[in-house]
Amino acid sequence: MSESLTCDVVVVGAGMTGAACALYAARAGLGVTVVDRGPVAGGTTGAGEGNLLVSDKAPGPELGLALLSLRLWAELAARYGPDIEYDAKGGLVVAETPEAVDGLRAFADAQRAAGVTAEAVPADRLHDLEPRLAPALPGGVRYPQDAQVMPALAAAHLLKASGARLLTGHEVTRVLRARDGAVRGVRTTRGDVHAPAVVNAAGTWGGELASRADVFLPVMPRRGFVLVTEPLPPRIRHKVYAADYVADVAGDTADLLASPVVEGTAAGPVLIGASRERVGFDRSLSLRAVRALAAGATRLFPFLSEVRAVRTYAGFRPYLPDHLPAIGPDPRAPGLFHACGHEGAGIGLAPGTGLLVAQALTGETPGLDLAPFRPDRFPRPTKEAAR
Ligand SMILES: Cc1cc2nc3c(=O)[nH]c(=O)nc-3n(C[C@H](O)[C@H](O)[C@H](O)COP(=O)(O)OP(=O)(O)OC[C@H]3O[C@@H](n4cnc5c(N)ncnc54)[C@H](O)[C@@H]3O)c2cc1C
Repeated sequence: MSESLTCDVVVVGAGMTGAACALYAARAGLGVTVVDRGPVAGGTTGAGEGNLLVSDKAPGPELGLALLSLRLWAELAARYGPDIEYDAKGGLVVAETPEAVDGLRAFADAQRAAGVTAEAVPADRLHDLEPRLAPALPGGVRYPQDAQVMPALAAAHLLKASGARLLTGHEVTRVLRARDGAVRGVRTTRGDVHAPAVVNAAGTWGGELASRADVFLPVMPRRGFVLVTEPLPPRIRHKVYAADYVADVAGDTADLLASPVVEGTAAGPVLIGASRERVGFDRSLSLRAVRALAAGATRLFPFLSEVRAVRTYAGFRPYLPDHLPAIGPDPRAPGLFHACGHEGAGIGLAPGTGLLVAQALTGETPGLDLAPFRPDRFPRPTKEAAR
């Protein structure tokens, strides 16, 4: 063992969630060490997109966390906005059929009752908002609260701002526990870090990390591809997606879903994301997935058929069976806190998660009810069920 360190809390994972946990824990006065086996943002944070969305969330605990997080993102942006490419551009969800308009409007009515700002956009106003949209779309809804950041920059800047000790290249092989079960730190490939609290911000590997503390958490990978175009002058003003994307996000099928989200970036390329399928950690290119994304995007924006896609990349969303993250203390292992399983919304939900975890760490009453996010809500499968 080359090192043995102490601190108040060890955060495992230097992705967006770990960075936010570190920032808010440090602001609460705790001494924080962040440990990652790879570099900062080397997990899913560096392999996704940075949409901060309320538009795709039905009323419920995830929407509550998204609204809290969007408020915190706006505060963070006041300080770090240009560094993290924060852009409060708003979202535009468009219907492709008249029936979809009705569904979209009903969804927006329910969201409005839960505190979301959602403005119905009639067909003849769509092109005022997005001049290059396909003709003859029957209507949509605009969501001014939707925004965007560049995830890897955001994770790096928030980590730096936290002042936490950062140990990259350290894999956590064991969560250390005392005889009475209480957590007392982590064992890494390069030494132990002693602390009375450990935060599991290991993203898609959060289940594996939980098992290293002898607790069960069924985090699975949900693969997503993103298509990146050549750099373009600004042509797409909002985050634009078709109404069926919302059903894709909430869907449980392991099969390919590929309703596209189209967005411009500060650097010029248009990002067309993102497919969804459960194929384990298979990184091989799926032409079927990227073709489906391209077809959907050109249906929304016909000019894209003349634009070159220059690359594609894939990442693995951390998926829990009920589509909600695990956030808060683990009653099975005193001192262990979880902040993982945010699926396709972990960038958007990071600040709220970080704040809630910091409140739990310091014994403060959390700003949101943590019951729906309880990490022990999934029973360990029996041997028979696992066969
Ligand atoms: C294609 C795609 C598009 C997406 N688009 C969006 C979007 O627009 N908006 C949005 O909000 N979200 C989006 N997401 C989801 C988002 O990227 C994730 O929810 C988020 O990045 C999760 O962040 P995290 O910090 O929890 O996990 P990660 O970024 O994966 O970080 C976990 C870290 O833990 C480390 N780690 C794991 N195990 C160990 C160990 N044993 N020891 C040490 N370190 C360990 C890993 O190395 C990793 O760095 C998208 C995802 C994909 C794949």
